Amino acid sequence: MKASAGGYARARDVRHALDLLAASDGMGRILAGGQSLVAAMNMRLSEGDMLVDISRIDGLAGVTDEGAVLRIGALTRHADVGADPLVRAHAPLLSAAVDHIAHAAIRNRGTIGGALAHADPAAEFPACILALGATLHAEGPEGTREIAAEDFFQDVFTTALAEDEILTAVTIPKAETGEVQVLEEVARRSGDYALAGMCLVKRSAGHRLTVFSVGPTPLLATDVMAALDAGDMDGAVAALKDALDPPSDTQASAAYRKHLAGVLLRRAVARIGEQQA
Ligand SMILES: Cc1cc2nc3c(=O)[nH]c(=O)nc-3n(C[C@H](O)[C@H](O)[C@H](O)COP(=O)(O)OP(=O)(O)OC[C@H]3O[C@@H](n4cnc5c(N)ncnc54)[C@H](O)[C@@H]3O)c2cc1C
Repeated sequence: MKASAGGYARARDVRHALDLLAASDGMGRILAGGQSLVAAMNMRLSEGDMLVDISRIDGLAGVTDEGAVLRIGALTRHADVGADPLVRAHAPLLSAAVDHIAHAAIRNRGTIGGALAHADPAAEFPACILALGATLHAEGPEGTREIAAEDFFQDVFTTALAEDEILTAVTIPKAETGEVQVLEEVARRSGDYALAGMCLVKRSAGHRLTVFSVGPTPLLATDVMAALDAGDMDGAVAALKDALDPPSDTQASAAYRKHLAGVLLRRAVARIGEQQA
């Protein structure tokens, strides 16, 4: 099936993109890497869209060191996030995540901003930035605003971004000395979306754990984090099972996803221990 006819305009800069969205009578759709949007259009999940192509806006791609944080532009492609030395040094969770995202062709086109705005419950980057305590930066008709990762993911494919806002960047706190970050997931085949996945960060302040592909949004599992901080592994696994209410679908049953989450937690904690040894 092919997409229905719609419109297309290439934005010169963020202000131009916002003007194009405002002029589109609610039919405007931001086009970044196109790896999710075009697939949805081809399936006629959205019709008559006015595509506002932001992919050639200067200054929205790349990673910069801003002291305590890394700033990753929304148009930074997955492959470039994975290869970036600053990301490897200061946010290794994101480098690790890229290895699990789809296939090379998709990683070469898809953007981190697109993945965060799309908010697929099975996607890796949303869970990573939630585990890292990142801040998202958006621009709209009223100006710019910052949104904490904790407040950004609201439901399946639904975020705190308004329809007339553009995600411009995400800032990530740099890992402190001795901090360990690991990502664990299970997928049927390499490159498939995860059946269940998790990000575990251990810092001096304690653990941060997010779980993905087990609910409508990535989950920051605070009860599990408290059990891990207390060194209670069995309690952490039990708290994780209590916290989850995963869906059953053609890929996996809810019970299997819960089981996987427990297995992944034990693996992630073991890897943290190995890396700290
Ligand atoms: C076969 C296949 C397998 C995949 N496997 C995985 C996987 O395993 N893990 C994973 O995480 N992802 C996976 N993806 C998704 C991929 O990572 C996409 O690239 C990503 O989700 C969207 O990025 P994009 O730049 O292509 O966004 P687009 O497709 O251009 O846009 C996606 C959505 O986000 C909106 N949007 C994009 N950029 C912005 C912005 N800056 N501000 C506001 N809104 C914006 C668009 O309007 C649209 O609604 C897969 C995709 C395919 C086709």
